[in-house]
Amino acid sequence: MEDERLENFEYQSVQTLKGVGQAVAEKLKRLEIYNVQDVLFHLPMRYEDRTNLTPIGSLQPGQQALIEGVINHCEIKFGGRGRRSLLCHFSDNTGAIVLRFFHFNKAQQNNLSNGARLRCFGEARRGASRLEIVHPEYKLVQQGGESVEQSLTPVYPKTEGVHQTLLKKISSQVLAKINQGHLVDWLPDQVMTKHQFPDLVTALSNVHRPHKNENVSALNACATKAQQRLLFEELLAHQLSLLQARNKIKQTTSNKLPVKKEDYSVFIDKLSFQLTMAQERVIAEIFSDINKDSPMLRLVQGDVGSGKTVVAAAATMAAKISGYQIAIMAPTEILAEQHYVNFKQWFDDDSCLFLTGKDKGKKRQQKLEQIVSGARQIIIGTHALFQDDVIFKDLSLLIVDEQHRFGVHQRLALREKGRKDGKGGNIVPHQLIMTATPIPRSLAMTAYADLDYSVIDELPKGRKPVTTVVVSTSRREEVIQRIKKACENGEQAYWVCTLVEESDVLQCQAAETAAEQLTAELSNARVGLIHGRMKPLDKRAIINKFKNDEIDLLVATTVIEVGVDVPNASLMVIENAERLGLAQLHQLRGRVGRGAKQSACVLMYQAPLSEQGKQRMSILRETNDGFKVAEKDLELRGPGEVLGTKQTGLMQLRIADIVRDELWFDEVKKTALYIISQHPKAVEPIVRRWLGKADRFVNV
Ligand code: ADP
Ligand code: MG
Repeated sequence: MEDERLENFEYQSVQTLKGVGQAVAEKLKRLEIYNVQDVLFHLPMRYEDRTNLTPIGSLQPGQQALIEGVINHCEIKFGGRGRRSLLCHFSDNTGAIVLRFFHFNKAQQNNLSNGARLRCFGEARRGASRLEIVHPEYKLVQQGGESVEQSLTPVYPKTEGVHQTLLKKISSQVLAKINQGHLVDWLPDQVMTKHQFPDLVTALSNVHRPHKNENVSALNACATKAQQRLLFEELLAHQLSLLQARNKIKQTTSNKLPVKKEDYSVFIDKLSFQLTMAQERVIAEIFSDINKDSPMLRLVQGDVGSGKTVVAAAATMAAKISGYQIAIMAPTEILAEQHYVNFKQWFDDDSCLFLTGKDKGKKRQQKLEQIVSGARQIIIGTHALFQDDVIFKDLSLLIVDEQHRFGVHQRLALREKGRKDGKGGNIVPHQLIMTATPIPRSLAMTAYADLDYSVIDELPKGRKPVTTVVVSTSRREEVIQRIKKACENGEQAYWVCTLVEESDVLQCQAAETAAEQLTAELSNARVGLIHGRMKPLDKRAIINKFKNDEIDLLVATTVIEVGVDVPNASLMVIENAERLGLAQLHQLRGRVGRGAKQSACVLMYQAPLSEQGKQRMSILRETNDGFKVAEKDLELRGPGEVLGTKQTGLMQLRIADIVRDELWFDEVKKTALYIISQHPKAVEPIVRRWLGKADRFVNV
């Protein structure tokens, strides 16, 4: 065993490599490289072909190539805004090209003199008169004095102070002594055979140093067998870590929350509407989950307006009748407040408690006492609910609304909360997570493999799809007329102000200015204003006024994005809509179309629109379906952004791509289950190898 460990790359510090002292090792940590195995799993993100010289005359726009030639003459040109650039006219005996430098110093200028022979690498693109390469890599060479690379050049993800040369040098060292003894190959034989995957050592050698005859575009599309074998294992590692986290929590104990038919009927009778089939189905799924003494772990997805709140209320009812506490967490104060108002209507006033970060001092102390003593059963609030001093007496159900606004981190941390039940007990709350981000199903199953999954795929009856129009700000006057008319007809409208900067202050100022201007322009309408910097009490007052139809036009920042529910509002204008992403626009638009009226959303943009901006606008014009919007969003932005995982470390993939590699998901899932049941010892090492320090699930 000892010897095995000595052989195994995982147990060899990166400092055992030549040229890696303490200082370099420190820097490598930033790339999550700690041991020798980590070097091998720091995979190239793309490849360049420097294995042969391309004749300049054959270059095509967009082509990356290694060229060699001679400088014919250089000149300095002044472009727009007085920008200086150095142009070197460069040729071989097949053709000519321009090398363009925006940044250059005297020494460079001297080197790049007439007659100098250079070897350059870069991407050719169309220039003013002929092809050019902007800022090529170059070096001065002697004719016939330079060899070409023998394998394709890997380009590694790097970080400050760690250059490609270092990464190449250390990976070469490791590759030179790689053999089967150093790495354990965990993929089951039948998967290897079925997909004709190369073994791990072959795959890694090939991915780090692909042979020069390999196709660079295939490599850059991750289409080679070696790459697929590795991305398969990476997806598998993520799947295993989520399933492991799930299994761990499933082995803990929760309070059983049975639901009696009579109690459910009483609850239903109190509603002013009839539940949709989808709502009923999801409620049944939840009831079945919470009637067990192992924790529910369920994600409920439902497009904006599909009626998730009442589903949460049904679960709450079950826990309340059983005599336990329920915590409901929303991402913004406005939304938490709204839930509080709703839940007070559905349940009795005295059992509900509202807690936010704004509660301070004595008031907070009092509330904390009501929570720890169990005097209040339904605790509603923002993430303030999960500060350390909030101790529940007997939390049995945890509801997280609009989970996409919370990090994955928080989702996992919450699981611990139920344990702090004041008695040092080990009861874990059932968990219900709700989101309106309609991520495509396959993606949801992969990114949330630790959760069961329900969809509310039906809107309440009578909803009319929102008509979306896209207009330039030059037509602002028409939009104003439209609002005027709507208000005269007793309809209500939103005017949403956006800003690029995340600056709260600026955004609020913009809303204030807009409100003043609109008040002047719409002399007969009652204009209200709401933004993030107002006191909670004032915000509440404004929302209530709007709900009670005492305000015709509500000017708002994007604070209203999530959850605000005023069914009579039927028109929404979004100023500078081009600044927002698809998902956010869809969320905002979901504030209208909640009643029986025909609603409209006006996306007002500042011309000119970028290509992506145009695409976003037209997608929204074409569909109201959150799932379609989500799919497009995923295409345009990538999964990291959509899932909000960029910062949190979940699904930070090295080689796999959750959109591109969707076709592997089923097989990955099957393999994960097989490994857990047949080779449980393999789970930890696979997870460690791929997720390393980024893996936070194992310890949750
Ligand atoms: P979301 O899924 O966006 O959180 P909400 O729970 O806020 O949606 O519900 C949106 C609106 O639809 C609310 O006014 C709610 O009372 C209403 N609603 C929910 N379910 C139904 C239903 N089955 N029939 C009619 N209206 C409903
Ligand atoms: Mg909601």
